[in-house]
Amino acid sequence: MASHVVGYPRMGPKRELKFALESFWDGKSTAEDLQKVAADLRSSIWKQMADAGIKYIPSNTFSYYDQMLDTTAMLGAVPDRYGFAGGEIGFDTYFSMARGNASVPAMEMTKWFDTNYHFIVPELGPNTKFAYSSHKAVTEYKEAKSLGVDTIPVLIGPVTYLLLSKPAKGVDKSFSLLSLLGSILPIYKEVIAELKAAGASWIQLDEPTLILDLEAHQLEAFTKAYTELESSLSGLDVLIETYFADVPAEAYKTITALNSISGFGFDLVRGTKTLDLIKTGFPSGKYLFAGVVDGRNIWANDLAASISTLEALETAVGKDKLVVSTSCSLMHTAVDLVNETKLDDEIKSWLAFASQKVVEVNALAKALAGSKDEAFFSSNAAAQASRKTSPRVNNAEVQKAAAALKGSEHRRATNVSARLDAQQKKLNLPVLPTTTIGSFPQTVELRRVRREYKANKISEEEYVKAIKEEISKVVKLQEELDIDVLVHGEPERNDMVEYFGEQLSGFAFTVNGWVQSYGSRCVKPPIIYGDVSRPKAMTVFWSSMAQSMTARPMKGMLTGPVTILNWSFVRNDQPRFETCYQIALAIKDEVEDLEAAGIQVIQIDEAALREGLPLRKSEQAFYQDWAVHSFRITNCGVKDTTQIHTHMCYSNFNDIIHSIIDMDADVITIENSRSDEKLLSVFREGVKYGAGIGPGVYDIHSPRIPSTEEIADRINKMLAVLETNILWVNPDCGLKTRKYGEVKPALTNMVAAAKLLRTQL
Ligand code: GLN
Ligand code: ZN
Repeated sequence: MASHVVGYPRMGPKRELKFALESFWDGKSTAEDLQKVAADLRSSIWKQMADAGIKYIPSNTFSYYDQMLDTTAMLGAVPDRYGFAGGEIGFDTYFSMARGNASVPAMEMTKWFDTNYHFIVPELGPNTKFAYSSHKAVTEYKEAKSLGVDTIPVLIGPVTYLLLSKPAKGVDKSFSLLSLLGSILPIYKEVIAELKAAGASWIQLDEPTLILDLEAHQLEAFTKAYTELESSLSGLDVLIETYFADVPAEAYKTITALNSISGFGFDLVRGTKTLDLIKTGFPSGKYLFAGVVDGRNIWANDLAASISTLEALETAVGKDKLVVSTSCSLMHTAVDLVNETKLDDEIKSWLAFASQKVVEVNALAKALAGSKDEAFFSSNAAAQASRKTSPRVNNAEVQKAAAALKGSEHRRATNVSARLDAQQKKLNLPVLPTTTIGSFPQTVELRRVRREYKANKISEEEYVKAIKEEISKVVKLQEELDIDVLVHGEPERNDMVEYFGEQLSGFAFTVNGWVQSYGSRCVKPPIIYGDVSRPKAMTVFWSSMAQSMTARPMKGMLTGPVTILNWSFVRNDQPRFETCYQIALAIKDEVEDLEAAGIQVIQIDEAALREGLPLRKSEQAFYQDWAVHSFRITNCGVKDTTQIHTHMCYSNFNDIIHSIIDMDADVITIENSRSDEKLLSVFREGVKYGAGIGPGVYDIHSPRIPSTEEIADRINKMLAVLETNILWVNPDCGLKTRKYGEVKPALTNMVAAAKLLRTQL
């Protein structure tokens, strides 16, 4: 019984690659320094997997930035603006594509399926010239070999590469990306030939797009591609790897019919239906790479349950053809539990990070082969049992309250236009009211105060004094700027999810549980391990303090349940929606406490609502239903006169506009500054939006200061589509990452633009 790992985190257990990259980019270290750190990381990963006993160890899953960009480099598909003259692509061109340089902006980045990882989107057109321009896959294979490890080189498959590309600027809309298949396959052939010559016996082609809702002609592209590659692949065993969901029946039929393929990898954690497909028919003589160890989460595998799944598969595909694997690359989970010094032993016994998952894969393979590590299995069973019954996980009261939510709509009794009238009587706001999204610049000084308070270096009294001063500064500034609805600036928060997670029961935090988000950027998601409850009020102290400083309305500022859920590692022992409902109830209590404390405007951020949208259409309605329901639960109990705002990041929400309306917030502010047209087109096409709406009037992700005219111009464009009395004027996201030198003039111009337009109405 063999074992396989789809891919491994690149950053290193303590983010070594991040620091090496950033130091190199800053000119503080040389290319050789960076290469050395990278080589050390690769060799320790290979050795670790070899020592653990993994048979199919991946290579070329390392990347200096991103695996899709690596593929673009391999194919030499460098957009013209980077002035690439041919030959082997070096750091200069590579990092210019990833991050831009002094004269050229970076290539676009987008989310890798439904993960929080972002890849660099290839830009292709009919004139793109392809040439074999990065030998990385072959170099890494040889590097591992020289260390005594025979690996399975991993490439992004040709069809997935094209399906995830976009047409370059100026390319005709009718251009089909798949028409480039014939142009890129010759390069794949060259790479494959070199890998073969270097001694590779297996090769892994990642084709995760197979799990999407593909059209017939897209599926045909797989047949075409792998038929054309057949002769170059002969003499080589080829694994087609899929992940993140089950493979639809049509796609399953298409790929299992391919002659040139020896093995198929499926995600059996998220793809529960794949199991039935396999049982009803799997091509004889082919290998099944069964992804039973979850690469997307941090939970220890339920080894006993996996063994029964694997045994059932053994019957279907044959003992010698079953390979135990991970559900996807382990790059989507944290690296090594060994470095967690602050988690207690009980919680640790429930967890497995990448390094531990490698051991699990191997233990499963060995157990199936008849040499079961009894001690390992029994301690795993004990941990599974303790997690099921632990009072830290189970809170009967919370479970009861969440169960009672089912079957109800949780909608505010009065409709939104009547509520807006009632609110306006109290708030008395001008037309085109101005506001901001929540955070103000987080200075070095502010970060130091929080850090020292956390480390018990300053007293609570000193901490409160410092934060109070900061809030007071932010309030005064907003009054000077003449903003209508104020915020307290969020100086007490380092992160909009962590801040709440730390105050809720059922959450745990790691010290090194980083996951790559893009390039050198990593995030450290909280772990939701138990039923969620709110021991005491979380924001009322600061919000009422801020409100006491001004006569203008001060927004209470909360993170919504769906965003907390989507930006955390979530329990796998109950459906996601149940966890979400529990968080919603905790936030509901907070909303009601804020209202009772006299806060009249409460913003509940759902920055990540769109992110949780399932990949497959068949699952989207269900998600939207419970996500939107969770949001409504948080505020269904407030008075008509209490104004509920929400905020969303990303401009890509045209497809969920009906869910947004169904959230029934009084006001929504949305990030849109890079795509006015796209957002406004929804309303132009007749979607009716009766609530308040503030499409961001300038981009806070850039240090650039927008002029009054420019902002006024954009507001005018919005006014052409939206009714005057529902439009709000605000930046497109929080100001946390900006400097005061940018924020002050930008907001000055924003308020001036709103005032200018009020005189013209
Ligand atoms: N209220 C948060 C802030 O202003 C919202 C951040 C976000 O949307 N990502 O920082
Ligand atoms: Zn935002």
